[in-house]
Amino acid sequence: MKIVLASRNKGKAREIADILGDGFEIVTLDDLGFLDEIEETGATFEENAAIKAETVCRACNIPAIADDSGLEVDALGGQPGIYSARFAKLHGYDKGGKALVLKLLEGVPAPRTARFVCAAAFAVPNGGTVVARGECDGAIGFKPEGTGGFGYDPIFLYAGRSMAAMSAAEKNAVSHRAAAFRKLAQNITNYHFSE
Ligand code: IMP
Repeated sequence: MKIVLASRNKGKAREIADILGDGFEIVTLDDLGFLDEIEETGATFEENAAIKAETVCRACNIPAIADDSGLEVDALGGQPGIYSARFAKLHGYDKGGKALVLKLLEGVPAPRTARFVCAAAFAVPNGGTVVARGECDGAIGFKPEGTGGFGYDPIFLYAGRSMAAMSAAEKNAVSHRAAAFRKLAQNITNYHFSE
């Protein structure tokens, strides 16, 4: 099945293609000449993932997948949540999202529980949209550690170890994104066979 991935992030695209396996031919927005920016106007990860998948599906007229992801810190009432990518900017903080989370957690003792969340969405032309959620539980450390991964990985401890210190394969075995897309792949397969 040919599916367009509603993301310009090459790292995500590789990871998602790996997770979905050989049964799907993933094409990119660039392959299809889709140049628009999609506004994330939803109130949840699920809504934003569905908005991205449905927008691209409608424009390209083929099935589309998208994800929306972020970090939820319990001591911050679930922030930065769906605003993870724009967190520092929204607060006018020029040292980036990781530094802002550490600053806001000053004085908060361990365990500073948190989770990464990913919603993965699949939309079909003239059809419905399925959304699957994956989570990865961990905690926020006291300083950035490790050089791998991206985003908040250096301050996120999974089983006590910085996610930025894990190999890509180690992270993919436990990550929120892998969990969400594995579930979604199952739903897509069910959808495919039931059509
Ligand atoms: P979006 O899903 O492209 O809207 O971006 C989500 C944001 O959440 C990213 O820019 C990162 O800041 C953060 N994020 C999502 N997943 C991860 C992850 O696996 N590691 C570290 N940060 C992540």
